[in-house]
Amino acid sequence: MVATEQGLQTLVHETGGWVASQLEACTRCGMCAEACHFYQATGNPEYAPVWKVEVLRRAYEQRFTPVGRFKSLIGLEKKITDQDLEHWSKLNYYACTVCNKCALVCPMGIDLGSLLHGVRAGLSAAGVVPDELMAAVNKQVEEGSPLGMTDEVWDSRLEWVADEWEEDIPRDVKGADTLVVFSSIEVMKFPTNIAAIAKILNAAGEKWTVSSKAREVVNFGFYEGSEEHTKLFLSRILEGARDLGVKRIVVTECGHAYDALRWHAANWLPEANDFEIIHITGVLGELVSSGRIQLKPGFFDDKGTLTFHDACKIQRKGGHIQEPRDILNILAPNAFKEMTPNREEAICCGGGGGVIAIKDADPIRYAAFELKIDQVNKVGAKTVTMTCSNCRLQFTNSVEHFGLDWKITSLVQMVADAMID
Ligand code: SF4
Ligand code: SF4
Repeated sequence: MVATEQGLQTLVHETGGWVASQLEACTRCGMCAEACHFYQATGNPEYAPVWKVEVLRRAYEQRFTPVGRFKSLIGLEKKITDQDLEHWSKLNYYACTVCNKCALVCPMGIDLGSLLHGVRAGLSAAGVVPDELMAAVNKQVEEGSPLGMTDEVWDSRLEWVADEWEEDIPRDVKGADTLVVFSSIEVMKFPTNIAAIAKILNAAGEKWTVSSKAREVVNFGFYEGSEEHTKLFLSRILEGARDLGVKRIVVTECGHAYDALRWHAANWLPEANDFEIIHITGVLGELVSSGRIQLKPGFFDDKGTLTFHDACKIQRKGGHIQEPRDILNILAPNAFKEMTPNREEAICCGGGGGVIAIKDADPIRYAAFELKIDQVNKVGAKTVTMTCSNCRLQFTNSVEHFGLDWKITSLVQMVADAMID
């Protein structure tokens, strides 16, 4: 009960004037439900976005409104219990990727994504974060990486990538312009991304470096909803950047990490504003449009239909919508076909927000991915490319689960493969 009280205090703390106005503005029209891939895939009304934030609304109503206090007094509304918080933990961590598509359709303009983060903050304070997610957070606190990217693993991966692909990876270079920060998903699961990015930046003549100190950009504290942990992981990156004296930080293919570092760090940690923080997709766009790297036109045109999956945090939130399309229209002007819906309205992969780290969420995650299967099949694509390693992990895992004959790749990989020497 003590933990529940802490959770409730945090929910109440989250309820400043802005949150209160958002909660009051909700008309309960239910339109957000249809936007949520978990609701669409299962028809479970508890997966409606408005219901996922209900626990925050109740905490606010019971604490701050006369009607809520009166209803609690006469027993019309029950106090929030441990069981309630555990129930909302499942709704929010298993069946929400914080993709924020629901906010796009809300006629009242309610920013559901921010409210859902507020709910996670309360659940985290109450100690009801799913065990596997919390284990990854603790690993990141203690070892610096949620996926076990220790000093030894980092060193051996970089050496292997440098040897295998014969690319120079500058390490801990003081005075470099650009610090490149990778996610452990890339380092552990998709190391060819490191080689691809090295090839691209070396060819462009960029003065760049990686950092031994600021090498893990994945932020499991952000998934958890803990401001303390999110800030701790963000500050490790910012300290590493400051030590090297770089001007900008390039986040590689990880959407949630980009969201945390690009948008939240600026509000929480003033030193973040000393750096330009940009996603690698934006860098690719700059390098291609300025001619600093050149691509072989039509390089992928004879390899079958390909499509592009928009990542919620990089395209919908980050705004890097046009660059991938400009690049794919050079690389595969005939083979590239858009899924529907796409761009801001794209359907989430279903694995973000920490969902893929929770084994018990697998059935819901796979159900959500079936929407993606429909989308891809409708354009007849056998290759799907994207700009987020978390999406890529969800795609590769789900392709295996469903026995699909798709090739899953990344935009940086395609660019690196099709560069004119
Ligand atoms: S669409 Fe907006 S107003 Fe309607 S129920 Fe959802 S959050 Fe409330
Ligand atoms: S943020 Fe995305 S996953 Fe979460 S409730 Fe909204 S639409 Fe559903």
